[in-house]
Amino acid sequence: MLKPINGETKLLGVLGYPASHSRSPEIHQYWHEKYQINARYLAFSVASENLEQAIKGARALGVRGLNITVPHKEACLQYADEIDATAQKIGAANTLIFDASGKIKATNTDAYGVIENLHQAVGNITPYLEKVVVLGAGGAARAAIAGLQEAGAKHIIIANRTKEKSETLARQMGGNISIKNWQEKETVLADATLLINTTSLGMQGKSALEISLTNLPKTACVYDIIYTPLMTDLLQQAQARGNFVVTGIGMLLYQAQKAFEYWHGVLPEIDATLKSQLSKPSRSETV
Ligand code: NAP
Repeated sequence: MLKPINGETKLLGVLGYPASHSRSPEIHQYWHEKYQINARYLAFSVASENLEQAIKGARALGVRGLNITVPHKEACLQYADEIDATAQKIGAANTLIFDASGKIKATNTDAYGVIENLHQAVGNITPYLEKVVVLGAGGAARAAIAGLQEAGAKHIIIANRTKEKSETLARQMGGNISIKNWQEKETVLADATLLINTTSLGMQGKSALEISLTNLPKTACVYDIIYTPLMTDLLQQAQARGNFVVTGIGMLLYQAQKAFEYWHGVLPEIDATLKSQLSKPSRSETV
């Protein structure tokens, strides 16, 4: 049972526009109950013009922390008193921590989420980091590349529809990144050890990701960060030809795990019950 609400109950939440589709309230409520933490976590849909008021208002109200989601991950940085190295590198935050003195600290747990999910799925990630092909150059690609570089990826290739965005991303992230045209995303798969889809293609309600995996070695791992549906067409195609596949639900869970630790000082367990709860569609997806 959740601890009953009283005058000591801490408030947390996710702020996005919209935010009603978010699975984060379910995840955090599960952990509040499991660890008997007197807190509640809500989803707040906040339009861009109200972002400043919402963040400063949350601080005035003594909110403990916020997750930040699309489209506010970059804009929220201007209201933070401290931005840690990860959020600075990614250029975006997904977690705000409000400390007792009223300071707002911004961090980004998406990079941890991407890598920890991979690590938990494959065990030793090193062999998969030789040649990584990243599809996409949006916010999720930024977090994935930051995590991959931190984990020691030897060579990263970005293929994105809008080439200028990949070029900007590669310049900002620095290091071992090459750029390919979107049309080259299949030829570049030869010798790849890991393919990650960070585009929104293949997500429920979005266009399909049309890609042939013929050139991809069977030993490569295929990772799709989309989690609705859990088994995307890309993952189904990869699994059918014998590649090891990793779904996106773990990224959501592990980024939440790290944020929870920042707020409550406990690294919560991602147990089988939580995984199974999250692999079912949410109520908002079923109605
Ligand atoms: P974003 O910043 O808007 O980037 C979207 C990316 O998709 C861009 O690279 C964009 O290419 C590409 N794209 C969109 N439509 C396309 C099309 N028709 N053809 C080719 N490329 C197309 O979004 P994001 O925040 O990075 O999120 C991307 C996906 O990751 C979403 O589906 C999101 O749900 C998922 N995600 C999952 C998690 C998780 O926890 N598992 C976390 C974050 C995000 P252009 O640059 O050419 O526009």
